[in-house]
Amino acid sequence: MGYFELNNGVKVPALGFGTYQMPPAITEENVAKAINLGYRSIDTAQNYGNEAEVGAAVNGSGVSRDDLFVTSKTQTSGYKTTLRGIDESLRSAQLDYFDLMIIHWPTIDNSGTYKALEEAYQAGKLRAIGVSNFNSSKVQKLIDRAEVKPMIDQIETDVYWQQNKMHKFLNQNNILHESWAPLGEGLSPVLSEPAIIRIAEKYQKSTAQVILRFLTQQHIMVIPKSTNPVHIAENLNVFDFKLTDDELDIIKSLDQGHSGVNWPSSMGQEAY
Ligand code: NAD
Repeated sequence: MGYFELNNGVKVPALGFGTYQMPPAITEENVAKAINLGYRSIDTAQNYGNEAEVGAAVNGSGVSRDDLFVTSKTQTSGYKTTLRGIDESLRSAQLDYFDLMIIHWPTIDNSGTYKALEEAYQAGKLRAIGVSNFNSSKVQKLIDRAEVKPMIDQIETDVYWQQNKMHKFLNQNNILHESWAPLGEGLSPVLSEPAIIRIAEKYQKSTAQVILRFLTQQHIMVIPKSTNPVHIAENLNVFDFKLTDDELDIIKSLDQGHSGVNWPSSMGQEAY
């Protein structure tokens, strides 16, 4: 497993396990399976409705809590409700702390919402804090006022949407770029991209593995999701090969500057 370091010195696994759209009834079993296989980072959210099951798998895993990195995301706006929400999430997951809590989407009151994260961080309830789906101007506004600089921005990123401008901005500000939907959520043609198939054949890897390796080699944290046991194992097995500079260039040239997924317009994608 590769690791990245956040701007407060906390180490974070370069690859974790996503749980979006994972029904609570099968979450504990799948997260337990993932941890057993060697995943050390799990991504949940208040609005996934499965924080309790993620926490149960973490607590029942037999792996030391110090070796696991658990992320959740707020779904509230404003200082007081967000502070309450963090405590409810901890109670629900039966955890003493989250390793990372991020604001899931920009809110009406980003500043108040972030202040709650800062307070919970300072109280030791969160080891790291950050944002998700924030563009550079929204991140900059937070940085300008923050007592605690955000450590991560989790944004949609895959090889068709490499987020080059945001990546540069985040790097310059020492904020880790984390990808959601690194495999295009299974809705994008990216897994059958011919240029990636050719590279995958060379390494005897799947296209998913090449994509995850590409992103982690770009210093982007990834959290692929699957409930298929073969894919869960496969997605973790990406650190025993390294793409050459030429192969990185080929994949970089696939960037289209927008999502490969045809999201409904109601998703309201951020302009980055
Ligand atoms: P993903 O890109 O991880 O794709 C998951 C889908 O890809 C699976 O359902 C399956 O259909 C397919 N897949 C997975 N492994 C595969 C393999 N090896 N071979 C072939 N197909 C495979 O999509 P995601 O789940 O949306 O994103 C990952 C995680 O990011 C989520 O589970 C969630 O934790 C997080 N997320 C965050 C936000 C946000 O707004 N912050 C939004 C979406 C997702």
